Amino acid sequence: APAALRELLLSRITDVPDYPQPGVVFKDITPLLADAAAFGALTDALAELCVRHRADKIAGLEARGFILAAPAAIRAGVGFVPVRKAGKLPGATLGQTYDLEYGRAEIEIHADALEPGDRVLVIDDVLATGGTADASLQLVRRAGAEVAGLAVLLELGFLEGRKRLEAGLKGAPLEAL
Ligand code: AMP
Repeated sequence: APAALRELLLSRITDVPDYPQPGVVFKDITPLLADAAAFGALTDALAELCVRHRADKIAGLEARGFILAAPAAIRAGVGFVPVRKAGKLPGATLGQTYDLEYGRAEIEIHADALEPGDRVLVIDDVLATGGTADASLQLVRRAGAEVAGLAVLLELGFLEGRKRLEAGLKGAPLEAL
């Protein structure tokens, strides 16, 4: 993102040490969401990525990804598809499990949410190890669609999620604003 936008976004993200557990620095985006100018600029930037990468759907990752993805979808004029934690979607679903630091997690998408030919931009707030994002890319493809790209507000570079996602992206762009 342009330097001015980066500065604006970074200035509205707060570090919360030792949350939710000791040793983790949690990136709190609620100050950004509460600032209309910053949230609006973020929404514009995400919508622009949607257009630039010729996506015709936006998928948001529960829960903070929803908050960023839904207004971007409206602004870009494309539909929104939720990728949810297991057990929350009412219809027939496809599920993908993945490893966390401790244990495993599962996310789901409605089996009929996407169709062949759809190009999907996946959006989340923070890219950490990349496990969640990697699982979501697999779900998009298993649902029959193409991955147009992955966009995050913040990438925690030291966790090397970008490296973990290399195979899963299959050449699709990873954009960290
Ligand atoms: P990962 O699968 O390790 O990339 O974790 C990504 C998911 O966990 C994202 O949906 C983030 O919202 C959340 N997350 C991981 N680490 C942090 C952090 N330090 N601050 C805020 N959210 C985080």
